[in-house]
Amino acid sequence: VREQALAEAAQEAVTADGKRIQVFANIGSLNDVEIALANHAEGVGLFRTEFLYLENDHWPTEEEQYKAYSRVLKAFGERPVVIRTLDIGGDKDLPYADLPKEENPFLGHRAIRYCLANPEMFKVQLRALLRASVDGTLWIMFPMIQSVSEIRAAKALLEECRNELKQEGVAVADSIPVGIMIEIPAAAVTADLLAKEADFMSIGTNDLTQYTLAADRGNEQVAHLYDAAHPAVLRLVQMTCQAAEKAGIVVGMCGELAGDREMAEVLIGLGLHELSMSAGAIPEVKQAVRRVDSKTAEGLAQKAIQQENGDQVRKMAKRSQ
Ligand code: PEP
Ligand code: MG
Repeated sequence: VREQALAEAAQEAVTADGKRIQVFANIGSLNDVEIALANHAEGVGLFRTEFLYLENDHWPTEEEQYKAYSRVLKAFGERPVVIRTLDIGGDKDLPYADLPKEENPFLGHRAIRYCLANPEMFKVQLRALLRASVDGTLWIMFPMIQSVSEIRAAKALLEECRNELKQEGVAVADSIPVGIMIEIPAAAVTADLLAKEADFMSIGTNDLTQYTLAADRGNEQVAHLYDAAHPAVLRLVQMTCQAAEKAGIVVGMCGELAGDREMAEVLIGLGLHELSMSAGAIPEVKQAVRRVDSKTAEGLAQKAIQQENGDQVRKMAKRSQ
């Protein structure tokens, strides 16, 4: 099975009834670029930029960031690269950022919240992204969005940077899709409102699962309660997909669930257009997509959200293979 998946890895993933599903890679460093290309990623659905900040002992400069973004964009050319802005806080600490100790870091001052509170720092990243935008196909994504005002504030800073660069005579791509991660239950529930301000949405099931099920993603003692296939999570995925469909924007998934080939049929049935995963999973997920009939998948997804727990969903999905 693996051999056949590898042999066909370069081909697109189209369901048996002709629906195209884009299969992208998640990358978290420049080394991951080669692995993603070798596995025939059709683009990058999530470029985690934290490494630039974590491997330095200072805030990475605009130039340092520009070089990294530009390299990845050039490597993928016409294929889209979704670069996510800094997602610090939670479990990811930065010694030089002087983050305050928090009782509940995952519910605290992290990601877009931290960035909006530190606009001068955030603008360094936004400027670097805009400068790199002419080197490939850049999509910008904001993490941990909770409500519309955050998207508006982040987009306003992006516009400010665009104007500054224009004044400086620096070239910037004309149209850069700006999207958001759906990883807070509130965002999934109000996805129809958020969709009005976003060009695309990508579901982060790692965080969405921990917040929905109130089970810390890194705590082994509650690991048995943490399952991205739980029907509660899947219902939020479906709500998000329906809102995206209505708004006419692309919706993908970049959490770990997207790389589970046994769940591909359910995920397509819920309405996802794009799946982004660690590169090694791409060939087998593409193969799984090719076996799916999207009408049957819709029925399976409706059954999945009626199950009692994630185990039942996974068993059901496996039986359907
Ligand atoms: C997620 O939360 O699902 C996600 C993709 O982001 P991260 O794992 O970096 O928090
Ligand atoms: Mg996340």
